[in-house]
Amino acid sequence: MEEKWILQVHGVRGSAPAAEREFLTYGGNTSCISLDYGRGVLAFDAGTGLSGLGRRMCDKNIKRADILLSHLHMDHLSGLFGFLPFYDPEAEIHIYGRAGIGFPEYLHLLVGRPFWPVGLKEVPARIRFHEIEPGQSFALAEKNPAGKDPAEKNLAGRNPAEEKEPENRIQIDTLPGNHPGGSLLYRVRTAEKSVVYALDCEMSEEMVDALADFSTGSDLLIWDAAFTPRDLEKHKGWGHSTWEQGIALRRRAGAKAALMTHFSQGYTDGFLQQQEQLAREADSAACFAREGMVIRI
Ligand SMILES: [Zn+2]
Ligand SMILES: [Zn+2]
Repeated sequence: MEEKWILQVHGVRGSAPAAEREFLTYGGNTSCISLDYGRGVLAFDAGTGLSGLGRRMCDKNIKRADILLSHLHMDHLSGLFGFLPFYDPEAEIHIYGRAGIGFPEYLHLLVGRPFWPVGLKEVPARIRFHEIEPGQSFALAEKNPAGKDPAEKNLAGRNPAEEKEPENRIQIDTLPGNHPGGSLLYRVRTAEKSVVYALDCEMSEEMVDALADFSTGSDLLIWDAAFTPRDLEKHKGWGHSTWEQGIALRRRAGAKAALMTHFSQGYTDGFLQQQEQLAREADSAACFAREGMVIRI
């Protein structure tokens, strides 16, 4: 039996942080969710919630993180500025993003002068970038005891079947999302369990089959619930979805549970509580993400 994964929510907002008091029950930070899989920590996106994950990593002396970026909109990047492990010479940070858009160059541009005093090339941590083609599957770049880096080989085109992998090796699948400028959705899996992260994706008739296939049988579907159906009408083409669509997808894919997040920055705690109640009445396997929430998988 594989050990439990511990998923923790660090940021639930879309577009921009919302730090006033009426937002703090669900939380004011932008998108970041971590997954501690026992041998390391994965982070889905690097919104302002990433700062909290960085502090926790320092407190717990965790030296390795793999950050999976959905895309380069600022609500998914602004936690990179205050990410303390960058300043730890023993830390090793792997950052994954969509190939073909030059994301490493953009991150160097963003986290550096004049926007930030210390550039990513100057920080003491070892930073590695991995450019992923939409639809590509790869093994997490974990070091094995011999010091080999399997993902590098996979990315270089070697057949992963040639490598003898431990059964609990983390595999990651990707799917292009429907979002202005594109996004990358992730499924993290081992032989025993899987989690799907599908943020910044507007449900569409063209996407529904691919999303259901991608999420089939997953233990948890993390879904873009940025808008209510009424508000979505006014924001068609913005690249976001609703909790109702998340519930329909969960049922169709046979996912065990759905976690709604990336809430519109204007939705207060009172409003989200009402929406969450409606969602739970519609589907007892659905819940809304709150900062600090921990889910064991
Ligand atoms: Zn976003
Ligand atoms: Zn976006």
